[in-house]
Amino acid sequence: MSPASLDRPLTLALSKGRIFDETMPLLAAAGIQVSENPETSRKLILPTSSPDLQLIIVRASDVPTYVQYGAADFGIAGKDVLYEHAAEHAGGLYQPIDLNIARCRLCVAVREGFDYEAAVHQGSRLRIATKYVRAAREHFARKGVYVDIIKLYGSMELAPLVGLADAIVDLVSTGGTLKANKLVAVEDVADISARLIVNQASLKTRAAKLQPLIEAFARASASKGP
Ligand code: ATP
Ligand code: MG
Repeated sequence: MSPASLDRPLTLALSKGRIFDETMPLLAAAGIQVSENPETSRKLILPTSSPDLQLIIVRASDVPTYVQYGAADFGIAGKDVLYEHAAEHAGGLYQPIDLNIARCRLCVAVREGFDYEAAVHQGSRLRIATKYVRAAREHFARKGVYVDIIKLYGSMELAPLVGLADAIVDLVSTGGTLKANKLVAVEDVADISARLIVNQASLKTRAAKLQPLIEAFARASASKGP
């Protein structure tokens, strides 16, 4: 790598919304401020108060891809996203810390009144709508439940209401969205939080700039507790 590319700022890949919002205090703990807000700015590359760090704003599910290929040196993504990404691609990513932000649960949910336990007990084949195909498939395989998985990209809550699926596997935090759609969570699949992921080559070649930031994130997130 040329000296010029080693001089370029570190690039951190983030999605806007809750991951961006909850990352700002971690950056602040490292003494770094971001003056532009991705919700109002159309810019996809945001400078920070540090000349050594810039942010790129990408779709949540694209964060691992940018980091894996080295277009970002590091990134922040939910365990849900990382698990599904690993199903398609291997290698290139180093996952050093749980940042304890964007915490929620991956759950099985059904229509109010649908007897999930009975359906499982009877050995019925269940139709499951989800964006989290790998996590869902492995969850039901562990339970020994036969399922047909239907991949969706959003608004999973609708699927059981219109007869597309018996159940969904989706992220739940307060349960407000489920409740508003007359759904109930019946089973936990996994606890979810966001992780810092680092490109393996960057970790070797750009350690001097990366390590202090990784350590500051680790300290700031440890104080948030599990
Ligand atoms: P897109 O909107 O681009 O399809 P997304 O829905 O995955 O992506 P967000 O809703 O911002 O984007 O979610 C980003 C990450 O935040 C998720 O991958 C997950 O780890 C976490 N997350 C999602 N929903 C919740 C929630 N209700 N509470 C806490 N964290 C959540
Ligand atoms: Mg979302």
